[in-house]
Amino acid sequence: MTKWNDQLDLLIKSRTPLILIRSKEEERVEILVKEATKRLSNRRLATWDYIDGLKGILNSDGLGSRQPIAVLQWLEKVDSSQPTILLAKDFNRFSDDAGIARMLKNLSTKLRNTSHTIILIASNWSPSSDLEECLTILDLPLPQENELRILLENISKASGSDLSNETLEELTHACSGLSEIRVRQVAARALAQRGKLSKNDLPEVLDEKRQAVARSEVLEYFETKATPADIGGLDALKVWLKQRHAAFSDDAREFGLPLPRGVLLIGPQGTGKSLTAKAIAHSWSMPLLRLDVGRLFAGLLGASEAKTRETIQYAESMAPCVLWIDEIDKGFGGDARSDGGTSQRVLANVLTWMAEKKTAVFVVATANGIDRMPGELLRKGRFDEIFLLDLPSHQERFKILELHINQRRPNLNIPIQAVVDRTEGFSGAELEQTVIEGMHHAFSEKRELLETDLILAATQLIPLSKTAKEQLDFLKDWASSGRARPASIKIT
Ligand code: ATP
Repeated sequence: MTKWNDQLDLLIKSRTPLILIRSKEEERVEILVKEATKRLSNRRLATWDYIDGLKGILNSDGLGSRQPIAVLQWLEKVDSSQPTILLAKDFNRFSDDAGIARMLKNLSTKLRNTSHTIILIASNWSPSSDLEECLTILDLPLPQENELRILLENISKASGSDLSNETLEELTHACSGLSEIRVRQVAARALAQRGKLSKNDLPEVLDEKRQAVARSEVLEYFETKATPADIGGLDALKVWLKQRHAAFSDDAREFGLPLPRGVLLIGPQGTGKSLTAKAIAHSWSMPLLRLDVGRLFAGLLGASEAKTRETIQYAESMAPCVLWIDEIDKGFGGDARSDGGTSQRVLANVLTWMAEKKTAVFVVATANGIDRMPGELLRKGRFDEIFLLDLPSHQERFKILELHINQRRPNLNIPIQAVVDRTEGFSGAELEQTVIEGMHHAFSEKRELLETDLILAATQLIPLSKTAKEQLDFLKDWASSGRARPASIKIT
């Protein structure tokens, strides 16, 4: 946080008239600004919110309550011999008020000749573009490990017990990604139940994080039991994934390997992309977070970037984890003319994060095609690798059918070669459907499943590859020029 504090000090000292601190943690921001005011000894601090009005200034308490313009007018008149920092909440509620926007813009020039600073605090506010020009934006990161350590130590001491170094480290690590308020809440619950902080609180901390993820609305915490053994075929992809998993270890860091970044899986519907994302998370024992790109763009115009930042923070707080960006092509393939460039900006944020991230967040992005895919995503180096998941080969179809029969009728041993022959062009999902349909048939006749049931089911299903042949050929053509690796091992 020292760096963040330094940044804030520098902005105030260099007479930056308007600062926007983006954070949900009002209390923490207030403490940090108070500390900054102390460090810059010659300034005084005034706070304002819509209900209580001005606070911290003798004889002006309550001024400007329910009148945001009045508090700005007040500051305008304060003599420059009394350098003042005005920490103002709730201004984001008045983004559409022309008078307030004008007043802020005027002050952004006038205050330069004084040592007054207005610090606005808001979490989800994206000011209009001309107001944004006048604002210097400072994002407050969630509490860093050293802050969390001090916080937990203080809470524990206040409760009359000391934490061993080992427990303190474990709790600190577990709390990373939670806001200060959330840490205090978990601690308060623990103290109420057990009278002290201990390792027993770890599951609750994890649960708090899950809830934070759920509240984000953009991320979904996905419980899964899938493993690579549930995937038929895709052997080249499986070998690659095994290698990457090993690269998360400390030994790999010592060896000089970078943390794996992620993989892009492209392929027609039902070829096992989602199944692979789930299998990676479960077999690597990492939580799986599914990002709903549509929700990033839903709601207020301009809020998407704030939501993206928050989402990234949540994902990082769950590290090591797998971040699954489903249908990335559809999500980010927005038209700049219709969305004012929002999807491009959000994509740029995500790409910068992916390039710079130092946390163990493995991104698994999935897409059906490349026609709507922004070119930046396909450029080399964005992902560790791009894989094309083609329709399953003869041998893969055998394995997939076998898998799905075994999952449902574990002790059944029936020949399936003829179904395999008749299902060319079927996706994994369509093969699964064939098994289910065949089972319905057998069940309705009150007997065991036979190969003929499967053959009948296969003849009744029109595989998507028939209708989407052109699209598939295009994809294969594109991949064959070396831009994506085949996920399956070719048997010649
Ligand atoms: P979409 O593009 O429509 O999201 P997808 O490629 O993500 O499709 P999945 O959702 O993974 O496809 O596949 C649907 C189901 O089909 C899986 O849950 C699984 O039961 C079955 N399936 C697909 N591919 C395979 C495979 N290679 N091995 C075993 N089962 C498979």
